[in-house]
Amino acid sequence: MNFQKSQRLNNLRYEIRGATYEKALELENQGFKIHNLNIGNPAPFGFDAPDEIVHDIIMNLRNAQGYSDSRGLFAARKAIMHYTQTIGIPDVEISDIFVGNGVSELILLSMQALLNPGDEILVPSPDYPLWTASISLSGGKPVHYVCDEQADWNPDIADMESKITPRTKGIVLINPNNPTGAVYEKDILLQIAKLAEEHGLIIFSDEIYDKILFDGAVHYPMGTLVHETLCVSFGGLSKNYRSAGFRGGWMIMSGAKHKAKSYMEGILLLASMRLCANVPTQYGIQTALGGFQSISNLVAPTGRLYKQMNLIYDRLTSIPGISCVKPKGALYVFPKIDLKKFGLENDEKFVYDLLSEQKVLVVAGTGFNYISNDHFRIVTLPTIDELNQAMDKLQYFLESRRVL
Ligand code: PLP
Repeated sequence: MNFQKSQRLNNLRYEIRGATYEKALELENQGFKIHNLNIGNPAPFGFDAPDEIVHDIIMNLRNAQGYSDSRGLFAARKAIMHYTQTIGIPDVEISDIFVGNGVSELILLSMQALLNPGDEILVPSPDYPLWTASISLSGGKPVHYVCDEQADWNPDIADMESKITPRTKGIVLINPNNPTGAVYEKDILLQIAKLAEEHGLIIFSDEIYDKILFDGAVHYPMGTLVHETLCVSFGGLSKNYRSAGFRGGWMIMSGAKHKAKSYMEGILLLASMRLCANVPTQYGIQTALGGFQSISNLVAPTGRLYKQMNLIYDRLTSIPGISCVKPKGALYVFPKIDLKKFGLENDEKFVYDLLSEQKVLVVAGTGFNYISNDHFRIVTLPTIDELNQAMDKLQYFLESRRVL
């Protein structure tokens, strides 16, 4: 007898750690050095978590032996509540905040608590693929709206509106965006808020990169713009505080909470069933939010993240046949390849061959549920030296195939 995986998993994809990633692990086991430009995990690239966070977690380890409240430690949630006040999200109470094992856990939880079979959620294309997968796993139907490369990857509001049906329950926004690096204009966000309010849809705003902003880009928290419907905002330690392995994230309910009593009960039920988020990390949240924001130095023109993003952008755009919108935030560059110019079949084959031949690992655009098969994502975390090596190899790979 064979043990079959659940049919619920049949259409789920998470290509960031998918087949090509498995192939990279295999090559690494064979002794090859791989340039891992595939995962937004700061620590392996020499981005340490701020010392004060690590110190707080260590100092509180003995206090962290027991379960905490299912919503999260009081002090952590108070700090998150205070953060909502400093960024201007009105009327958030401590019971409106849930701490989780990273934003990942809360994304799945927020979908499982809401969706009935066939319910639809609007998700960006391209997206961070956990959103699409979590909606499907929860029995819902992800419906993708287009983010327009010609408009700096801003959401196409007309497309979004055209996809609203009587089954639509919410709209997912990822801002700053993974994988495109877009940071949305206030006017666009206001139009989306209006659309959601008119149609009675919940806004799910994934703002995990809200402090990773370049060239004076401004981030507008969606919770400050949504009032007549429910807004669920997500943030965490993994990126702004370079602590992805600590698994700390949070979810904030704001706006028309009075319309969401049952949904919030559902969230609390699921949060209770998993008892609580890991407690040691929760002790670092207050210090993270209230402490020295060292990420600001990394994204400043003299900072590593800024310089590395620029290097990738400059090197890619110097190759005829590659084009790219310059990122305004987050940790990624999402270039377009003119497939014909290089005799390439599609993004997946390109990514696989690049890995096999040059040992450079990037992720295909279709892995982010993008509608066309001619993009790929590069992570901006490696050092300038390593990026130059990887870019040399990428360039060599493309030039050796150039037909036009
Ligand atoms: N949301 C987005 C847009 C992400 O890019 C990621 C991780 O890359 C996550 C959520 C998950 O983050 P966490 O480490 O908090 O689970």
